[in-house]
Amino acid sequence: MFDKILIANRGEIALRVLRAARELGIQTVAVHSTADADAMHVKLADESVCIGPPPAKDSYLNIPAIVAACEITGAEAVHPGYGFLSENAKFAEILKSHNIKFIGPSVENIRTMGDKIEAKRTAKELGIPIVPGSEGGVHDIATARKVGKDIGYPVIIKATAGGGGRGMKVANSEAELELAVSTAQSEAKAAFGNGEVYIEKYLEKPRHIEIQILGDGQGRAIHLGERDCSLQRRHQKIWEEAHSPALNAKQRDEIGARVSNAMAKMSYEGVGTIEFLFENNEFYFIEMNTRLQVEHPVTEAITGLDLVQEQIRVAAGAALAYKQSDIQFSGHAIECRINAENPLTFIPSPGKVNDVHFPGGLGVRVDSALYSGYRIPPYYDSLIGKLIVFGKSRAECMMRLRRSLSEFVVDGVETTIPLFQKLLAEPDILDGHYDIHWLEKYLARTKM
Ligand code: ADP
Repeated sequence: MFDKILIANRGEIALRVLRAARELGIQTVAVHSTADADAMHVKLADESVCIGPPPAKDSYLNIPAIVAACEITGAEAVHPGYGFLSENAKFAEILKSHNIKFIGPSVENIRTMGDKIEAKRTAKELGIPIVPGSEGGVHDIATARKVGKDIGYPVIIKATAGGGGRGMKVANSEAELELAVSTAQSEAKAAFGNGEVYIEKYLEKPRHIEIQILGDGQGRAIHLGERDCSLQRRHQKIWEEAHSPALNAKQRDEIGARVSNAMAKMSYEGVGTIEFLFENNEFYFIEMNTRLQVEHPVTEAITGLDLVQEQIRVAAGAALAYKQSDIQFSGHAIECRINAENPLTFIPSPGKVNDVHFPGGLGVRVDSALYSGYRIPPYYDSLIGKLIVFGKSRAECMMRLRRSLSEFVVDGVETTIPLFQKLLAEPDILDGHYDIHWLEKYLARTKM
């Protein structure tokens, strides 16, 4: 096992990793920008290193500074959290060349699955069902037209290097195609420095269902069930639950087995998520995330596993401690992402938090790095906390969610808490009847 790891992240996920490491008796090194000198992850870590000025590109994405921080502190491994450098193959490669262990999959696996076209090709080869679409990148309008004819409209144009729900455009007919392709290309170029796009059938009423997997890099892999992340705004998840209200045990076992077999074949190491759209009882692969996800706690709640500790164990060379038959699902869990944003317009609301009070009690978990008097900097993601409730049933989660949202106080900034309180009055939410477009439609007709 490692003696010391460096956590290349900030906010709630840096704390999450720090807690897992501490339980395993591992020393932690925090890194931070000058804007985060007073952040909770810095206060709680055994050591900390300032790695640059506020903009992420100069600090949390600053590879030389992070490698130097490892060398100065003698950290043997780096946990990247999510976002920032967590899916950066170059970073994993540089760490390897410095004999520092990247807590995550191999450079090759990150690279393959990070290129969305390559990922789809690989998934198909490994027997995972994919969304119909172009064979590879689409570079000219004639090819785009041919793909549109073959798969039928509407289609969605997506960036090969995409992420965070950006750079996607829908074309409802051939007349809309040319503009959609060129806009997607220029947005992709601006956002990711790579303008390549590909085309997929646009599914009109799917749910977003993803499968959590865990592999040991030695050819063994298991799945930990699914999460339903269909409640999205601008393709960004805000509420996640496990199990999905739309799936039965047989469907779960089937897709889970298919995915874990594929991951075993790839010798996948660590945790990963295979994302699908699910429509008319069919799964369609959209992408893989080769890292820990924001919404991992709902899986922890229904499996009892600590996913971060499992990541660290396999990174340290341990074989998987579980067989598929050891994994027992129990109950239901729901996560709400608490963002410092206006609950209706989603405009960020950084600033000083005068007071916070977190809910507690049976079946309630709050992952957050907030504290009273903390100033939320304007430079980073607006996620300030995650409320996770679990219970024997989905109905029990609803009851618990209502109760814990009413206890949750963040004074001084706007948050998305009122949105979740309103959602709990919606029959569709209570019944689990929602698809990926439900929230946008709801927001369009709602006043906060
Ligand atoms: P990103 O990497 O930017 O998150 P994804 O490929 O994971 O992009 O897609 C994010 C979201 O965009 C999905 O959860 C879904 O809501 C929507 N989406 C993606 N592909 C399609 C598609 N073929 N049809 C309909 N919606 C889609």
